[in-house]
Amino acid sequence: MSWWDPESGEERVCCGTFNCSRTHRRLCCAAIWLPVLVLLALIATVLIRTLTMSERFELASLSEEKPVFLNPDNATRLAWARTLGGAIKIPTVSRSESDLSTEELAQLHSFLQQHFPLVFKQSPHVERRYVNTHSILLRVEGSQAKGKPYMLAGHLDVVPAGDLEGWRDGLDPFLGEVVEQDGDTFIFGRGAIDDKHSVVGILLALESMLQDGGQPQRTLYVAFGHDEEVSGHAGAGHIAVELEQMLEEKGEKLDFLLDEGMFVMQGVVPGVEDPVVYIGVVEKGWTTVNLTVTGQQSHSSAPPRESTIGILAAAVSRLEEQRSPARFRDGPEYDTFTYLAPHASFLYKMIFSNLWLLSGAVSSVLSGSYETDAIQRTTTAVTIFNAGFKENVIPGKAEATINHRIHPMDTIETILEHDREVIGDDRVSITKSKNSFNPPPISPYSNDVMAFQVVAASALQVFPEGHVAPGTLIANTDTKHYLHLVDQVYRFTPAFITKSDTKRFHGFNERISVANFVQTVEFYHRLIRNADTQVAPPTARETCIQAEGVPVTSAHPFSD
Ligand SMILES: [Zn+2]
Repeated sequence: MSWWDPESGEERVCCGTFNCSRTHRRLCCAAIWLPVLVLLALIATVLIRTLTMSERFELASLSEEKPVFLNPDNATRLAWARTLGGAIKIPTVSRSESDLSTEELAQLHSFLQQHFPLVFKQSPHVERRYVNTHSILLRVEGSQAKGKPYMLAGHLDVVPAGDLEGWRDGLDPFLGEVVEQDGDTFIFGRGAIDDKHSVVGILLALESMLQDGGQPQRTLYVAFGHDEEVSGHAGAGHIAVELEQMLEEKGEKLDFLLDEGMFVMQGVVPGVEDPVVYIGVVEKGWTTVNLTVTGQQSHSSAPPRESTIGILAAAVSRLEEQRSPARFRDGPEYDTFTYLAPHASFLYKMIFSNLWLLSGAVSSVLSGSYETDAIQRTTTAVTIFNAGFKENVIPGKAEATINHRIHPMDTIETILEHDREVIGDDRVSITKSKNSFNPPPISPYSNDVMAFQVVAASALQVFPEGHVAPGTLIANTDTKHYLHLVDQVYRFTPAFITKSDTKRFHGFNERISVANFVQTVEFYHRLIRNADTQVAPPTARETCIQAEGVPVTSAHPFSD
């Protein structure tokens, strides 16, 4: 390095060993060694954090120390599988909000009534309401007036089968039979993992609980909407109104809601081999933005320098290029990785334990694939582009539709603002569609949240080799209709999904293994039992009853 020597008045070159003053040698040493020391300190910090990264999720001890399972024999397992198959055989397809399968929904109701006589007819502990004809709301009275009730939800409808040629070996998409595939036994057909496995799983768990006059200790509600796949307005939307009245009549408030959503997944997060129990603590919002450019319709022989189509195409192109910012540091996806850090292979453990330093790098890796990128930002999907009607006419109007799935850290307003800024062209009018909705609040998931513990504990009892992680659901569920009635909302079913299975959702060859379906039933059974042991604070009405001297079972020590 060179420096100015005030003694000789000359520029001198210093190699750090000789030809330098003492002060300068020190400076020189510092210049070389300081970065090395900083780097060593950084490496030491990274290694210490990696080696000492502790478990973020700690399971609270539940009062039922040794969980009891239904443990079905082979004949019962097959009977359960056939019941799910029977529900799959009834094609309750929702094609659009105005095109539902109402006859099939009625058939499914009869099927369920026939297969679950205690739930739907005989048990005096169940109150049944059919909402907007096709949806179902049940209230199962708890044997003990303790704690707030909670709700389990699912949906009765399915998406269309799509191109029949995509279904394996020419199998009927609504086959509903037990088939041998890939060395295992599966119940095959549309709805197997979205969401008839939940509906039938919840009902099988309940039916077994109601046998011989039995009932759960804690009151629960069960809601099955009939049009979740096309918005849920007619189903869950109406259930929410009925439920609000019912809760008011009973003086109750919901403690938590568990609906479909995320799964037990294996091989999805790099570096984590064990199954991961992803509990969706939030889902994305939604807005559809319409872009319109209007101009002078004219003859193509003398075109203007910029056509309506050209202006709109440039706007759309800018939106695709300049995506909404990644929110990795702020969203629950950050915690997905910190929760999984202790269970990852060394390299990934080091990365996941040091997101304070490496979150930018992880975010870049997530950006590399559109599938993983979707969890960390608001997505921009160009879904419709309309303009022109004749080859020799410049159209006076061009329109495009952009569908955004809004990250929990963004809002409809911030996204519209982003779009306006990126387009930066007043000639493009930007309006949002009416059915937009903001992302819901993130449900709590710290270790002291008993509702989260109940869901997690139930899943771990059924998948003991699994690890719990909170997650962001990038799709939507019926939960959006219930947000004014409950704060703690979780989105999870215990379907076991590998990376290749993710394409089966709304795709082809939907199936669930018989073993996994048995786990599904066991999960709901455990969940009801575990919820019995976890008591939320009493509602105002319960407090009144207590004050009037009617005995109320004392709250469990885990009450919050
Ligand atoms: Zn679904």
